[in-house]
Amino acid sequence: MSIEPSISALYVVATPIGNLHDISQRAIDTLNMVDIIAAEDTRHSRTLLEFHSIDTKLISLHEHNERGRSVSLVEQIKLGKNVALISDAGTPLISDPGFRLVGEAHSNGVRVCPIPGPCAAIAALSASGLASDRFCFEGFLASKSHARLMRLRELQNESRTMVFYEAPHRIVESLKSMQEVFGADRPAMLAREISKTFETIKRSGLQELADWVADDSNQQRGEIVVLVEGDRSSSVAEVTEEASKIMDVLLRELSKKQASSLCSQITGISKKLLYQYALNVGLDTI
Ligand code: SAM
Repeated sequence: MSIEPSISALYVVATPIGNLHDISQRAIDTLNMVDIIAAEDTRHSRTLLEFHSIDTKLISLHEHNERGRSVSLVEQIKLGKNVALISDAGTPLISDPGFRLVGEAHSNGVRVCPIPGPCAAIAALSASGLASDRFCFEGFLASKSHARLMRLRELQNESRTMVFYEAPHRIVESLKSMQEVFGADRPAMLAREISKTFETIKRSGLQELADWVADDSNQQRGEIVVLVEGDRSSSVAEVTEEASKIMDVLLRELSKKQASSLCSQITGISKKLLYQYALNVGLDTI
């Protein structure tokens, strides 16, 4: 494995979301190679570093000191030092600090190098069996119930699979709000404590999921990702990727009606659905 220490850089390193073995060899090599590791919580990260016998200098970088720290870290990289950014778990910047530091690096022409690895949203999605060709990451919903409901209502017609992070003390209320907005039967999944002892993956309709979590206090503990299937009533969601490509080409030459009719003959998808797709994307030139 070769890292290029000759060109100093900011390495954005993904670390485990539970099981300490879930870290790549390249991540370990990078954390050993750099001069400084900027970590969200140095005490928390020390456990991981000790587990992998890494004794690189650790400094803290969290939401309260990120602005100042970013400037000084980028200065050090410009002077030839290598810096790694890690968070408490998973991929930095994904509902975690680092946005300012990475932005500062780019603004100063400093090389930014991602070292890919675990991310709870992606791990949950990969085990969900819900549509994964298109999805949106919503992160944490607001802690206040009114704001949370408002955001969920904005997502009512979202056709992509939605991925939420949720705190254990809010999970019951959030699932109830989701059930209220998306409907009792909307397929959903709860992924709890991924890669840890009490890992739980439960897929069902939203009402069943909300009741199951409300009835079992064990499901209201630990770290949780909730996935909700997108709105399947939206025509755009039903049109396959192949059909949408065909429609996009046909709509450049033909009317919506002609394009829908031709595409229907090619793909077998209903003319009405394809016509609705054409209306939604508004691509035709005729
Ligand atoms: N940067 C992390 C990532 O890449 O996933 C996310 C950090 S965010 C502060 C923490 C949230 O991620 C938790 O509240 C939970 O929603 C989710 N999460 C992290 N680890 C998890 C795990 N092992 N199982 C389920 N969800 C997890």
